[in-house]
Amino acid sequence: MILEPAIEQLARPDMEALQLSRLQETVSRVYARVPFYRQAMDAAHVTPDQIRTLRDLERLPFTRKSDLRDHYPFGLLAVPLEDVQRFHASSGTKGKPTVVAYTRVDIRRWARIVARAVATAGGKPGDRFHNAYGYGLFTGGLGLHYGIEELGAAVIPVSGGNTPRQVQLIMDFRPRGISGTPSYVMNIVDEMTRMGLDARSTSLEYGILGAEPWSESLRQQIQEGLGIKAMDIYGLSEVIGPGVAIECIEAQNGLHIAEDHFLPEVINPTTGEPVPDGETGELVFTSLTKEAFPVLRYRTGDIASLDPEPCRCGRTLVRMSRVKGRLDDMLIIRGVNVFPTEVEYVLLQIPELAPHYQIEVNRVGVMDTLEVHCEVTSEYWTAVQSVQPEHPHIQALRQKIAHLLKSDLGISVGVRVHQPRSLARSEGKAVRIIDRRGEGS
Ligand SMILES: [Zn+2]
Repeated sequence: MILEPAIEQLARPDMEALQLSRLQETVSRVYARVPFYRQAMDAAHVTPDQIRTLRDLERLPFTRKSDLRDHYPFGLLAVPLEDVQRFHASSGTKGKPTVVAYTRVDIRRWARIVARAVATAGGKPGDRFHNAYGYGLFTGGLGLHYGIEELGAAVIPVSGGNTPRQVQLIMDFRPRGISGTPSYVMNIVDEMTRMGLDARSTSLEYGILGAEPWSESLRQQIQEGLGIKAMDIYGLSEVIGPGVAIECIEAQNGLHIAEDHFLPEVINPTTGEPVPDGETGELVFTSLTKEAFPVLRYRTGDIASLDPEPCRCGRTLVRMSRVKGRLDDMLIIRGVNVFPTEVEYVLLQIPELAPHYQIEVNRVGVMDTLEVHCEVTSEYWTAVQSVQPEHPHIQALRQKIAHLLKSDLGISVGVRVHQPRSLARSEGKAVRIIDRRGEGS
């Protein structure tokens, strides 16, 4: 269902005209109201009146996550504090959290953006919707919540955790839609199986999953395990939260960006130069309509590409590829770039393995090594009754996994096979990498 055809099917020249006028307005506002942006633009020798075409965007300086931390908590606001209706913040894994703010108008607009996204993924007014994203400072829970209500659907605000209760609520409330991180939704599927339920026979028909990079193989597993269509949603608090982009249920092939609100670019992360459509690089967004916390050319650290080709759903909004990984999560092992999603893509095609894994990075001398921990399925465990490395079946399985990983990643990796349910489970965002480099030695 196309909720706002006038925007979602807008012809390219009209969209670009809309984007340009909103960009000019945003640049003028932040230049006048946010000292950080005025100083950065002065240093780059660019003034608001020099933004005459969309290409002039490239004259503007980038904004980085560190700029948000340096102005903690309220230094980048473009409105008086009294006009803020809500704050969110991202977890401060490296020092201070990054704080973002919304006016009343921002909150309403965001709800509209998410409503459009939920409709794009197959949601309808009258649906019941199980929202397993975490509520709180994280934007996922409340971001989806307001959008589901705006669409005219009923939200079940479960938040994350307490998986047996999640299963019970799905059985009793009979929702059509579900949202959460892919690793956590997979955890719910496992719990259903463990409780002796048929996960394929629930009322669920579609899922809106995101907030962590995931692979096409995991999508297939979730879709088969739960008997649903699973769509990828993208967003980050610095840009607004969930709803920046989402896949359509018709094509499930790239995420339509809400381009009337967020102007996308893909750049070479080393040089900062734009890369051609279809080529992979770092995603950069400029907000076009935000009041409290506008951002100019925010470097997301997410690796993806853009596809301007028309989509068979009828929307003209440009599509981004699924996020291949985060620059922060990119491992450089003996000179080769490795993203956890690439490991996941390989592992989940191996029928003996359950969809749970962890990647351990170690340093032996000056050499970085990578060891992949995976879990066998309970069927395999029942048949073989061993995960001992020297057991002939396990030895053969480990060789098979190592061979497939090597041919896909281009480097040799160690493989450890574990019993079912022995690796840590996701209660939200999955912990995929254990980095032991720098732990003594
Ligand atoms: Zn589409």
